[in-house]
Amino acid sequence: MRIPGSGDAPRISSLRPPERKDRAPASQPSGRVVRDSFERSRTTPFGATATLGKGGAAMRAAILKGPSAVMAAAPRGQVTEAQVMEALRSGRTDDATRQMIAEYFVPLGMEASHETMESIRQEGLLGVFIQATVRDDAGSPPGPELTAGLTRVLETGRLDVYAETLASTPINVGDYGVLEYRPGENAVVLDESALGDTQNLANILAHELFHAFADAHGGGHGAINEGFGIAAREYAFTDGQYSLAEMVYGTKNFYRDRMDPPQPDYPLGDMRDADPELQAFLEALGARDSSLLAWQNPPQMEREYDEYFAPLDRSDENAWPAAVEEATQRMLEARGENRVPEPEPQPTNPLEAIIDWFKRLLGL
Ligand SMILES: [Zn+2]
Repeated sequence: MRIPGSGDAPRISSLRPPERKDRAPASQPSGRVVRDSFERSRTTPFGATATLGKGGAAMRAAILKGPSAVMAAAPRGQVTEAQVMEALRSGRTDDATRQMIAEYFVPLGMEASHETMESIRQEGLLGVFIQATVRDDAGSPPGPELTAGLTRVLETGRLDVYAETLASTPINVGDYGVLEYRPGENAVVLDESALGDTQNLANILAHELFHAFADAHGGGHGAINEGFGIAAREYAFTDGQYSLAEMVYGTKNFYRDRMDPPQPDYPLGDMRDADPELQAFLEALGARDSSLLAWQNPPQMEREYDEYFAPLDRSDENAWPAAVEEATQRMLEARGENRVPEPEPQPTNPLEAIIDWFKRLLGL
């Protein structure tokens, strides 16, 4: 499956050169720079992490405290899956249902969210769920194109952890000129150029909703947040491995080498304050990382960046994939770790299989 760019600044996220050319233009309409500028809404590049989590936390607390018919009906504010399913089966998409869905999903971990979303999909209720759950700042449900993009995201079953995010973070589409998550407002903002290509929109949503989810769960900002956001879209829509080193270190170098003005101090960031739910999601995203990025050990991640990746020039698009590959090899050799092997390509016909078998036999 071709995955166009997410509209992210470092939108090139895989090491397969042939896909690079057709990725970027999909999210870069003529005459206008549309990019994820998550970082620009952060007033200070460093030390902002402590306050950033609070916006999400306060919002979540407000959701949990807010009065609703459901909370009156259920003791101690505990919304059950049965209540959520019943509301969706009866086609309810009103604000009280949205509130109930938020209250239900916010305390749930990744697995439990997935189980309920599986039930919703199995009963054919995904469309009702999206109409009930997603709003813009004005309180309007999503239009047909945004609905199609969200359906594409949720039908993978891989980003069900976002259910609570959808119920608590408005998604706005309009003439914004940017694609970004705004932590201060807890809102996703999408320029209308994001519409038109459902898969491209789904890629963008997978990425921006990662920022929103991470913000609510103690995620650090900077290159690590961007990099995992890029991984989220590959995780959702591809099945192979990807390189978190390319995504995270590549973002850091992108800000240094490709931004105007250059941002050499753009932070690498870390995920040491991630709560257990974000940690679980990061581990799932990290499980397909061929580069074995040391994201769970920030001092090591910083050291290895300085030694192996800081010298690489991100502005040389043609040399970048091979440079990353070589730096990754050197990093892992120095660690004494072997890389996770890529699965061997299977021969396409029996004759090739026999030839392959003969070659191996002869040591060729
Ligand atoms: Zn981003």
